[in-house]
Amino acid sequence: MIVYSCHGAAKEVTGSCHLVRCGARSVLVDCGLFQGGRERERANAEPFEFDPAGIDALLLTHAHLDHCGRIPRLVREGFRGRIHATAATRDLARVVLLDAAGLQEEEARRAARSGRDGAAPLYTLDDALHSFDFFAEPVGYGVPVAVAEGIRATFRDAGHILGSASILLELEDGGTSLRVVFSGDLGSPGRPILRDPQPAPQAEYVAMETTYGNRTHRSLPDSVDELYRAVEQTLGRGGNVVIPTFAMERAQEVLYYLHRGLREGRVPAGAQVFLDSPMAISATEIFRRHPECFDEAFRATLARDDPFGMPNLRFTRETADSMAINRIEGGAIILAGSGMCDGGRVRHHLRHNLWREKSSIVFVGYAASGTLARRIIDGAKTVRLFDDDVRVRAQLWTINGFSAHADQAGLLDWLGDAPRREVLLVHGDYEVGMRAMAECLRQRGVPCRMPGKGEPILLK
Ligand SMILES: [Zn+2]
Ligand SMILES: [Zn+2]
Repeated sequence: MIVYSCHGAAKEVTGSCHLVRCGARSVLVDCGLFQGGRERERANAEPFEFDPAGIDALLLTHAHLDHCGRIPRLVREGFRGRIHATAATRDLARVVLLDAAGLQEEEARRAARSGRDGAAPLYTLDDALHSFDFFAEPVGYGVPVAVAEGIRATFRDAGHILGSASILLELEDGGTSLRVVFSGDLGSPGRPILRDPQPAPQAEYVAMETTYGNRTHRSLPDSVDELYRAVEQTLGRGGNVVIPTFAMERAQEVLYYLHRGLREGRVPAGAQVFLDSPMAISATEIFRRHPECFDEAFRATLARDDPFGMPNLRFTRETADSMAINRIEGGAIILAGSGMCDGGRVRHHLRHNLWREKSSIVFVGYAASGTLARRIIDGAKTVRLFDDDVRVRAQLWTINGFSAHADQAGLLDWLGDAPRREVLLVHGDYEVGMRAMAECLRQRGVPCRMPGKGEPILLK
């Protein structure tokens, strides 16, 4: 008997966690954090709907927090299997989980001081470090790995972030066999740095993300032009450009394009560029160490030049250096996290620039409902930052062509038209990307469903 159940990213974007039981064996694909405000984050402390000690292996598609963020808890609650991931994913996950643990410890201290609930952190730095003892030898792309008796996994390029993968499971139980593919998060083809996603292989079942199941992105060249226009206009009138960025991939891609723009004269030569995110700085260093993930064009670029090393680019790791940026009134391009503006140093830069008509805020990534980025994009007149009400007067740009997620056409291309027994739709806002994708597949005669959280689905 082979049974699937979804324990995170069921009719929502975050918390990815998929369980496959094959006879007596169980594997998890991802064990991510629920995100999107305090209310949703409470779900992270709820008991797992399965016994962590009964899981034989965990397969990690990529290092985003909504895919790896509950791993230390899983280990603390008894998981003793092996964690399989690519080398780049393992390196990035270390940065991501240590950072998350630090933030959780800090949040717990704050809660304890004010007498609020939640005085125990979800997990500690020690828990996060300990979980790295369970990582197996890194997995190479395209190499099948036996992860439990009767279960083989093959990691394939997903083109989403460095090290990201879709995972094909080949399952065997008592004479029956079945193939199930998990898309992980999928990128769009034709991007710089990473290889394109590999189309879904032959498999009876496909679990597919639907983040942008309803959208068509602007083309990448148009988006790059728009970025250059935003920079040129803003610096031209004496303002700053604030770019809330995700630390991995988006930050490096934007740096790559700024570097190219400078070389081509499309970004003003006097621009000062700041990467003001300790995590993005660490991620950039990890990028340099994993050329095995790059496409050929980017390897050729690297041989000529260092795209992450413009002369006027400064990495600001220290808080004092970050605070010094607040005194700059114009001419700066500031990349800072978090991408959805719910935490991190970008909130300081928003406080200093959001109310200034000369400045611009350039959104280049996904903004989930309930986040500060979403409220700003949706037209809030004022927002609360620290203890201030800050007016929104800066020029706003939303450039969705940089998204790390494939759009509707990209998802359909990836799925292809091979016959499937069923497509399981996950990792999308139910009312937005997921329902639109379900509609789209039904029109094409592809059987699909949107699994509920914890609902067991008999695959074979
Ligand atoms: Zn992701
Ligand atoms: Zn995700």
